[in-house]
Amino acid sequence: MMVSDSKTLQAVRTPDLGVVLCKSCGTVITTIPTNGVKKIHGLCSDPACASGK
Ligand SMILES: [Zn+2]
Repeated sequence: MMVSDSKTLQAVRTPDLGVVLCKSCGTVITTIPTNGVKKIHGLCSDPACASGK
C-alpha cells in the first residue's frame, strides 16, 4: 500500500475515501483509500481528545 500524505489531505472531498474523524471534536484527522465512502472514528492529536474525555 502506498500513501501520499500531501494527496490524502486534499482528497477529503473525493468519493471512495474513508474519512477518519475525531469522535471527540469531529475534526477530520486523515483520509484513507477504501472501497467506497466510509467514516471511521478515532481521536485527533488534541490533548483534550487524546485523553479520551
Ligand atoms: Zn479531537
